Amino acid sequence: MIPKGEIDKILEGYDRKKLAIAVICSHSALQIFHGARQEGVKTIGICKKSNKERYEAFPLAKPDEYIFVDKYEEISDHVDELAAKNAILIPHGSAVEYIGKKIETIKLPIFGNRRVLLWEADRQKMVKWLGVAGIKAPKTYKPEDIPGPAIVKFPGARGGKGYFVVKSTKEFNEKIARELKAGRITQNDVDGVVIQEFLSGVRFYPHYFYTPFFKDGFKCQEGRLEMLGLDKRIESNIDEIYRPLVFGVKTEPSYTVVGNAPVIMRESLLDEILRMGRGIVDASFELFGGIYGPFCIETIIDENFNITAFEVSARIVAGTNLYPRGSQYSCYIFDELMSTGRRISREIKVAAQKDALAKVIH
Ligand code: AMP
Repeated sequence: MIPKGEIDKILEGYDRKKLAIAVICSHSALQIFHGARQEGVKTIGICKKSNKERYEAFPLAKPDEYIFVDKYEEISDHVDELAAKNAILIPHGSAVEYIGKKIETIKLPIFGNRRVLLWEADRQKMVKWLGVAGIKAPKTYKPEDIPGPAIVKFPGARGGKGYFVVKSTKEFNEKIARELKAGRITQNDVDGVVIQEFLSGVRFYPHYFYTPFFKDGFKCQEGRLEMLGLDKRIESNIDEIYRPLVFGVKTEPSYTVVGNAPVIMRESLLDEILRMGRGIVDASFELFGGIYGPFCIETIIDENFNITAFEVSARIVAGTNLYPRGSQYSCYIFDELMSTGRRISREIKVAAQKDALAKVIH
């Protein structure tokens, strides 16, 4: 892990009046660029040439400038150039996937605590985090001890791709052998497998933002926790599996995230959802120095209103892309059109004004 002092030193050299944000052109980049534009923050898109048209198609959400790369891992070759432009990297789901473990050592200021991204990537750590937060999580099973329906997950942020459900150890072994043979998974995947109790209920994905700089609202640590939105993921093919099944077409369920839909929850459920968010922030301070900025808890709520969390995304989630002009919750906190992307740029500006960039940038 790069020492915090090294990042602080780079930040000290930055021109506060010319701060820029750097974003890998993927995932939630349009929203982040759009929000930065509203805040008057300069944007740099780390982009594959083939993806440029996607951003040029949306003039209000394209970066001010591009740095072109063949592969996103190459971002580490551009850190000096980015630092010379006073750039702060904004992590999102694709950044976590493409930069991977290098995120620990990349010599560029990152918005938020970069340690958090390692806790998100490691499922064992995640279980610990949820536990310390006092949040109910699904039971996990050993391969040789699967008592009933369980979802089998492989390492890395894959958006549900390749997950399957088994009902016994025998079925687990058969399906693993089948997947290995087909080359869809590797031994590495099998070694890092997590087998979770299959939860029933409906899924809700609340979007949070922790800020140390604002005090009014839902108190949390030295600042407040903002609930900026809520979505539900759309997964192929499980979400419309009734379509083939009604005609008797044999279909193997899959859980690949292909999009997101807006949802609203019963108002009374918000108490618990807010407490869970606070628990995640408190536990992050206890375990690894805190979480700053956006995160999401992936939950399932059953018919008795029991809420279980099966994952934490410790950065902006793609579900926030639904709300570039603010959401059904953010409008109760901000009298402005506040997306999560815009909120990130706002936080950077506020931190700069308070001379406290080092607090939220690691
Ligand atoms: P994840 O990669 O953990 O975000 O999971 C992707 C999708 O798999 C989720 O959005 C759910 O539809 C499904 N899923 C994950 N964990 C569970 C679980 N423990 N029980 C039921 N469904 C799950």
